[in-house]
Amino acid sequence: MEQLTVEAARSWMQAAALAMAENAAMLSELDTPIGDGDHGVNMSRGFTAVEKKLASTGTPDFGTLFKLVGMTLLSTVGGAAGPLYGGFFLELGRTATGKTALTKSEVSQMLERGLGDIQRRGKAELGDKTMVDALSPAVSAFQSSADKDITAATRVAEDTAKTAAEATRPLEARKGRASYLGERSIGHQDPGATSSWLLLQALANVCA
Ligand code: ADP
Ligand code: MG
Repeated sequence: MEQLTVEAARSWMQAAALAMAENAAMLSELDTPIGDGDHGVNMSRGFTAVEKKLASTGTPDFGTLFKLVGMTLLSTVGGAAGPLYGGFFLELGRTATGKTALTKSEVSQMLERGLGDIQRRGKAELGDKTMVDALSPAVSAFQSSADKDITAATRVAEDTAKTAAEATRPLEARKGRASYLGERSIGHQDPGATSSWLLLQALANVCA
């Protein structure tokens, strides 16, 4: 795939809705020992709302699409993750306003800007045991994947995010609810890093 179209990005959001619904129990289970057990329910509620809105709304360009996604996630997900994922998609929309297809380097830049928004808002650094631990190496891997092929780059990003989400297990949380547990947060995989992997997996699947 040489370009990511708005249609493909709509499919990405539908695939994400399915993935969050199918994995809601798993995500909430991850959030139980180191949080309040709501992450899967939060994400599934948010993306189900996105899917419903998309069914009745046209999205002529990336700006319209991701603004709708961001606003919907902001108003439906809640918790810490709602504003972070909401802000991420609003930033994607700002970056790609007016565009209907994006090259690999444009997708790369867009993802980087989205990640930047999450880090500006949440102030999490790499290793703080958050979604940033999955997203940051995945965005770098996307960017440095050698050729122009979006299919290959999204797959590399997904693989990287999966490994990176698993690698949050031995970390001590320094941001969010899990940080209240201090050392007791060690030994549990971060739910937000895991939902970020699912999001990138959905993207890789629609770009395959
Ligand atoms: P809450 O903790 O309010 O119940 P969720 O359970 O929906 O919210 O989301 C928890 C996830 O949010 C965590 O697993 C972590 O990945 C992410 N998170 C929390 N705080 C931050 C932060 N400051 N920066 C980035 N991600 C964060
Ligand atoms: Mg929670």
